[in-house]
Amino acid sequence: MIGNGEAYANRNPDSRNTFYDTTIGEGKYKSVGDGRYHNGEPCVCKFLKTGTTFSDDCFLDDVKNAEAALPYIAGFHEYVRKSLPQYAGSISIKVNIPEVWSQSSNGWGKGQKFLVEPLVPNFQKFNSNSGAADTTAEVAQALSHYSYHVSDGRELLCDLQGGKIGNSYILSDVVIMSADKKYGNTDLGLPGIENFCAEHECGRFCSREWKNWSNAKRRYQPVMSTTITLDVAHVPTPHTNRQHVREFPCDILFTQNSIKGQFQDGRTLLDTALELARQDIQKRDIPMITAVRYQGDLWTLDNRRLAVFRLLQMANKLHKIKVEVVSFDRVEDEFNRKWDGANGHTIAIRQTNYVIGRSESSTQYPGLAQIRNTYPSESSTDAALSIFLGTLVDN
Ligand SMILES: [Zn+2]
Repeated sequence: MIGNGEAYANRNPDSRNTFYDTTIGEGKYKSVGDGRYHNGEPCVCKFLKTGTTFSDDCFLDDVKNAEAALPYIAGFHEYVRKSLPQYAGSISIKVNIPEVWSQSSNGWGKGQKFLVEPLVPNFQKFNSNSGAADTTAEVAQALSHYSYHVSDGRELLCDLQGGKIGNSYILSDVVIMSADKKYGNTDLGLPGIENFCAEHECGRFCSREWKNWSNAKRRYQPVMSTTITLDVAHVPTPHTNRQHVREFPCDILFTQNSIKGQFQDGRTLLDTALELARQDIQKRDIPMITAVRYQGDLWTLDNRRLAVFRLLQMANKLHKIKVEVVSFDRVEDEFNRKWDGANGHTIAIRQTNYVIGRSESSTQYPGLAQIRNTYPSESSTDAALSIFLGTLVDN
């Protein structure tokens, strides 16, 4: 189920010599030339300008950003298929995956590294990492918002640019900003993510159910060119209401007495638990569930998801998980709507006689043995796992 999105990668069709022709564009730090692959197809080559103060290692970050965009693009297509089926045939997004090559011969720039990727015709910019956006490129703006939502606010795919025909895009040189600032010098971190959220306006391809950064503040002047961290002398750390704790799922309480046996998309609790057992999620450092502190205890509104994590704990597939604790004010309405007087310790699965409690002795669930006998066999990125968790909709 968790793919790496390879179907959405637009890679170099040829690994042999290109020749470099003329300079076709210039950014602040890079110059861009057009060339051809050995097989004759057009490509672009990007070089660092002389006098740039950082090394050509930054090209590796360009590759890393592009690869990391793939699961988001795959997840967005999945969202369109499920939630906007009338557009499923017309929305298409691919991303160029560049490679770092080095100049091999003929004196000129020997050993110099450069980036090579397929030429994208009609190149234009749809948004930037400082929050500027072309709102006519609605699919691109929705993709950025989607990435924020499914990564639980930890990452944002932006600096979307490339070619577009209708709702068909080929992107190039995309940027991911992350809470951990792990994507190189175009990753403006949480201030960048907050800034983007402050500028973003939802369009018709955004879902109203997606996470938003409420009261996000503008932190940068939005410009269409790419801002890099070196351009920003000092960025104040934004105030955030997020708080994370590590807790055993069996110590988090349910807000309902009973749940359905499936998530909104039809996937059963058992299938979900088996899928997660295959992913070795114990080693992950991403928030698995949201909870609220009420009268000293942690309560979740994601009851089905908690049921799955409790089963995984009982099957020895995980210990404590990372929990995002939200303030009671933020979820008060939902809490009052969902809470049905449950004491939080056990939950029944409707139309079955199954019960999930806080330990095996208070649990009646025949699939537990199957979960216990399922072992990690797949690996996936944090982004892909976040996207998977994002599909576990509890409403
Ligand atoms: Zn939006």
